[in-house]
Amino acid sequence: MNHAQLTALGRALRLVGEHGESLTTDTPDARLHEVKADLRRALDLLEESLEAGAPLTRCPEHPQGPVDTSAPDLCLLCETRRRSAQRAEYGGSSRPTDAPAKSPSRYGVRAERPQPQQRWLPEAWNGREWQLCGTPRRDRAEAEAYLAAQRRGSRPAMAYRLVHEFTDYEVLRVWGTPTYVDVEPMGNM
Ligand SMILES: [Zn+2]
Repeated sequence: MNHAQLTALGRALRLVGEHGESLTTDTPDARLHEVKADLRRALDLLEESLEAGAPLTRCPEHPQGPVDTSAPDLCLLCETRRRSAQRAEYGGSSRPTDAPAKSPSRYGVRAERPQPQQRWLPEAWNGREWQLCGTPRRDRAEAEAYLAAQRRGSRPAMAYRLVHEFTDYEVLRVWGTPTYVDVEPMGNM
């Protein structure tokens, strides 16, 4: 809704609220008709505002997001995610998608929902860079438990971090302070 609609709707709703405050058993019918008219006006304004903010896509996550007309849910963001998941599934080879028939439902059906391919990567700071220090997990809690065990180990690394791999990499949390250390190739410790 735009600013003018917001102002008008706000005023109409406050007026309805005032009617509610002043309502008594002695309120005359003429006054009740006034309430009815104001209530109807507020409802009309609300409907206009809803139309102005109608969703652009059928995606429940990004209703106002960028549109991809070839996507079943019209959502460019989710379609991009689905395509990269599909590329991963087919061993990195890109392959044109056969878009299924468009669903009449605003929320789409299950087959149209993105198939997230996500993993949690335990990483340790080796003095120069972050390196994978265990098997990537499908479960975040499992990855965190693994890192907790590593940190309690006899020779823990200077720092650990948990990385979320989805269509992108996102550092979720860092433990310790990774500082740059020159590695002695001869192990001069
Ligand atoms: Zn989406």
